[in-house]
This record gives sequence, structure tokens and C-alpha cells, in this order.
Amino acid sequence: MPPANSNIFEHHDHRRCALGGMSEAREHCRRAGLRLTAVRARVLEILLESHRALGAYDILERLAAEGLGSQPPVVYRALEFLAAHGFVHRLERLNAFTACAVPQPGHEAAFLICQSCRKVAETPLAGIAAGIDQQAAALGFEVRSRVVEITGLCTTCRDREAA
Ligand SMILES: [Zn+2]
Ligand SMILES: [Zn+2]
Ligand SMILES: [Zn+2]
Repeated sequence: MPPANSNIFEHHDHRRCALGGMSEAREHCRRAGLRLTAVRARVLEILLESHRALGAYDILERLAAEGLGSQPPVVYRALEFLAAHGFVHRLERLNAFTACAVPQPGHEAAFLICQSCRKVAETPLAGIAAGIDQQAAALGFEVRSRVVEITGLCTTCRDREAA
């Protein structure tokens, strides 16, 4: 895992990110008595390979090429498991998935999505959530879930556009 204040949009030692994410997931599964099957582990690994969002079909293609399964339900079930336990997040806007930066079941986050390269950074929702809840409460509205997805351009893509 990168240090909490690191910027995934900037150049960084991604091998450490990916390996760290994997060992954290294995550790969490061991503690919680969850079964990280070969397919579940590989799906997470594929998502951890980059900070980009991937659709279920992108992942399915990879698994099929590796002989790990070519049936859509296999991938959907694995993604469902990984999402339920906080290892990956579903991005509604892209209809895609991204590996979690801080795996923890049921946590909420805001996502900064680069519309050019599809890299995704996760940032804590805490500061924004209070404002949303306040506005909702004023309308007598009970918040059940908050999905905050913000699109824009990452540092690399901004530099490229400026060049
Ligand atoms: Zn990384
Ligand atoms: Zn997360
Ligand atoms: Zn970008």
C-alpha cells in the first residue's frame, strides 16, 4: 500500500502498491475466515495491476486467456465477493470496478476518475458526507448510501494536454 498521503496519479513504486494490496487482502481473509479462491484472488490481482477502472468483461477476457474461466457468472460472483468485503469498489458511472486503496468492509469513499486514462483515486468521504447528510436532513430525507464520483483529468493527462 502507498502511504496514506501519496498521490496515485503521480509516478510511484506501483509494485509495492499491488503486492501490498494482495497481501493485505490475504491477511484480511485469513483473519475473517473468508475464502480467497484462485479466481477471486486473480480478479483482485488484475484490478491491482493498475489504478485503472476495469469492466467485468475486460476481466473476463483476461481470465479466459489464462484458462481460469470464461463464464460471466464466475467473474460476477468473484467481483460480488470482493466488493462485499471491501476489496474492490463498483464505479456506477463507468460500470466498472477498481481495487480499493484501504480495504475495509462497508467503508465509503469519494472517487476521482480521470476521464482520459480511467485511473481512479479514492479519497475519504468523511469531510463531504457531513454536508450531504445535513442537506438531506433539512429535506427530511434519510440517506442510505452515498456514491460520489468526480470526473476530471489526472496530473499525467493534464501535462499531456498542456504539451
Ligand atoms: Zn500504485
Ligand atoms: Zn475503498
Ligand atoms: Zn489520466
